[in-house]
Amino acid sequence: MTTKHVHAIVIGAGMAGIAMGVSLRKAGINDFVILEKGDDVGGVWHWNHYPGLTCDVPSHLYQYSFAPKPDWSRLFATGPEIQRYHRAVAEDFGLMPHVETNAEVVSAVYSDGGWDVETATSQKYRTDFLISATGVLHHPAIPDIDGLESFDGPVVHTARWDDDLVTDGKRIAVIGTGSTGVQVVSALQSGAAQVTHFTRTPQWILWGPMDVQQPKIVGSVLGRVPFANKLLYRGLLEGSGILADITTRKTWRRTVAQNAARVQLLRVRNRQLRRKLTPDYEPFCKRQVVSGAYYTAVQQRNVELVDTGIERVTENSIVTADGRDRKFDIIVLATGFQAHNYMRPMNLVGRDGLTIDDAWAKGPRGYRMTAIPGFPNFFTLLGPNSPTGSVSLQFTAELTSRYIIQIMKRFRRGEFTAIEPTQEAADEFNDEVREAIGPTIWNTGGCNSWYQNEDGTIDLWPWDRKTMAKMLSTPDDRHYHFTR
Ligand code: NAP
Repeated sequence: MTTKHVHAIVIGAGMAGIAMGVSLRKAGINDFVILEKGDDVGGVWHWNHYPGLTCDVPSHLYQYSFAPKPDWSRLFATGPEIQRYHRAVAEDFGLMPHVETNAEVVSAVYSDGGWDVETATSQKYRTDFLISATGVLHHPAIPDIDGLESFDGPVVHTARWDDDLVTDGKRIAVIGTGSTGVQVVSALQSGAAQVTHFTRTPQWILWGPMDVQQPKIVGSVLGRVPFANKLLYRGLLEGSGILADITTRKTWRRTVAQNAARVQLLRVRNRQLRRKLTPDYEPFCKRQVVSGAYYTAVQQRNVELVDTGIERVTENSIVTADGRDRKFDIIVLATGFQAHNYMRPMNLVGRDGLTIDDAWAKGPRGYRMTAIPGFPNFFTLLGPNSPTGSVSLQFTAELTSRYIIQIMKRFRRGEFTAIEPTQEAADEFNDEVREAIGPTIWNTGGCNSWYQNEDGTIDLWPWDRKTMAKMLSTPDDRHYHFTR
């Protein structure tokens, strides 16, 4: 196969990859491809289609600033509607001719001012810029449970749901109590013969009006008055600052929000069940779960909450540490993701043969979420320290993509042939992160969560949205090496 030459490659056509593609097009840069492993755009919204999938961020905020959608059907949109939105944005902004699906990048090696990229289908590319938008919640985590592979019935991870799976009338085991487990239990309960929710660590659950429809009149007014639509988005963006405030600072606002989560538990009438559902750490320490349905679902007759550890799986049952053997037809793994893999297992090799595994031997680290020392002309969207727990991810992806575009424009003007952040700048950034993470609830709340790296450091953004906007407004030349 011949090598294709392009100016930029974006890896991943999920939410962040689409934001990058739109920024490239707006900048008049059309010589790029977006390589997508899946068979459609949308990222998590393409891969996830389990029953009950809803976004717990209000729809009018969970959208791009450049593509406001006035007519969301619900205040909190369902997964399929969000996926349709992403596809529509990719089409409306002319990205589809740039997207190559079923094109998993397996290797990217830097040499002589550019990247040699290869896909699983052996297509080769040469590019000046490589931009990774591979997402955080991408690689399903399959639990290491003795005998799991011996189960005769379907074992399905929520991020690889089989749409042909019949769940009505079945005995279903759901393992995992994060946002996904809570949504899937709530959705399966009414049709299943029995749902058994295996919970290793209970989660605090905030009530939210997840099922409320948006009246049609609201959509048509917002559609006819774009200014009002813009105002609503800005208002929600400003208002969402409360989340960064609650999580990063110990104030009365955090106390109020935490107590709101604690009070919800009183909706569970049975004391023993309530005790099982009560976490031993502080609300907002893990990624906060929001649900309007779970506490109702878990109190139904056909639902059992099991907090005894799973010992093993047999061909038709799950055996817990107390020796109880419960029979099932289906096992659902709502066990989350390997969140710190980022672009791995790709063979990513930077300058002087530096592999990403070596660069990240002590965990994922970078410079301001978007650049890594030793990896010239390489940028990440939603890379290490992205604000998955506090700031709008669309805002973050758009901001980062505009930052990268500024750098690319300078390259195109001939100011340099290669750029990478200095080790000192990256170290300084990571020292600041470490210090700022100290008082956050993710650090002080007494929980384990997917926010933590293997060494216990927390892979999150410890500041607010305005600090982010400042840090990514314009590249600071003192923080970069330029090859001219
Ligand atoms: P998660 O929050 O990582 O939760 C995984 C669950 O599986 C935890 O309860 C974990 O228990 C449990 N688990 C893992 N391995 C286990 C094992 N071997 N045995 C028993 N239990 C095990 O994953 P998630 O629920 O898929 O959510 C991931 C993230 O996706 C969320 O935090 C959120 O950011 C995003 N999400 C968002 C939405 C939305 O509405 N916007 C919806 C779904 C997901 P431990 O807590 O004990 O480890």
